[in-house]
Amino acid sequence: MTTDILRSDELKKVDPVFGQLSFNDHEQIVFCNDKDTGLKAIIGIHNTVLGPALGGTRMWNYKTEWEALNDVLRLSRGMTYKSAVTGLNLGGGKAVIIGDAGTQKTPELMRKFGTFVNSLGGKYITAEDVGMETADMDLVKEVTPYVTGVSESRGGAGNPSPVTAYGVYMGMKAAARYKFGTDKLDGKKVLVQGVGHVGETLVGHLTQEGAKVFITDINEARLRELSEKYGAVVYAGDDLYAAEVDIYAPCALGATINDDTVYRIRAGVIAGAANNQLADENKHGAILKERGIVYAPDFLINAGGIINVYAELEGYDKEEIMRKTENIYNTTGEIFAHSEENGCTTHQSALRIAQARIDAGKKEKGA
Ligand code: NAD
Repeated sequence: MTTDILRSDELKKVDPVFGQLSFNDHEQIVFCNDKDTGLKAIIGIHNTVLGPALGGTRMWNYKTEWEALNDVLRLSRGMTYKSAVTGLNLGGGKAVIIGDAGTQKTPELMRKFGTFVNSLGGKYITAEDVGMETADMDLVKEVTPYVTGVSESRGGAGNPSPVTAYGVYMGMKAAARYKFGTDKLDGKKVLVQGVGHVGETLVGHLTQEGAKVFITDINEARLRELSEKYGAVVYAGDDLYAAEVDIYAPCALGATINDDTVYRIRAGVIAGAANNQLADENKHGAILKERGIVYAPDFLINAGGIINVYAELEGYDKEEIMRKTENIYNTTGEIFAHSEENGCTTHQSALRIAQARIDAGKKEKGA
């Protein structure tokens, strides 16, 4: 079959890059290859209207290059909306390195990746994501200034997880106010799914305020440790989605709100740190709305991490970082009001508000 005999709709099906399902008006995609270090990476720049495309680098053992391409396309688009809705002057980008972070990551490979980032002249700024450590960003920093998430000793803003957790806590309070008429969480039953870096700090905030916190994790030792440290109760029921709680906080994996779970959830509020919580943004967002469950959009309330790295670019101090993160409370409230006024889901509202900011930025630039 040759392309000259294909109709345009057929062409779209076979076009390997622009025809990908996840391709969504991305500005630039850079394929990086280096034989000596074994580097195979893709940098996805989704949008730079509001500023340089900032987003982390993920190193993952993708089964296929298509999987890696789709991941970078999807993740970089997500960053555009996250920064726009949070009010940051940043665009959206992300990078993926194909390979096993445990066995294939070397200092030479990281530096080489840094030279590719550098070649973009600041259009893309990198940071950590899955499979990356602060030490890796320090190596990238040796060859390019376009990197954040470096060690505090090198001018970095440090571990973003506590800031992310604080933003989630603020978003949760705003959602509680909308659903229950008060943002006070004392006495509220909250189920935290996944008590890793973010989950732990969130549990700390919640128990400090007097919430009754239930925790789940696949790591039993972690559950025991946190239960002792914070007095949280390890959830013992068979079906965590059907737990009789006021708030469900997904802080482990994405897509936990899906066809299988969406009708079982009994919590009145969903507010957590995990990325891409809705398996199908439109469908599951609409079912939650119909069921009267208030969903705090993940990409808004988990933006503390990006606020933290943005501070490295703007030279903000910790106080300013926390003030900006606290503002997630107000933005979340605005999104609930917008969703009610416009009859759309909270997720759609957050996307529309972000898009409106990008459109205004484009107009201002005369683009
Ligand atoms: P983490 O890896 O430190 O913690 C995740 C925890 O979830 C671990 O304790 C793990 O054992 C547990 N877990 C994994 N699978 C599980 C399952 N099926 N059921 C229950 N628990 C399970 O990650 P983190 O940094 O705390 O991030 C948590 C989530 O928030 C992730 O989805 C991440 O993408 C997102 N997020 C994190 C940040 C940040 O600043 N760290 C920022 C934005 C979004």
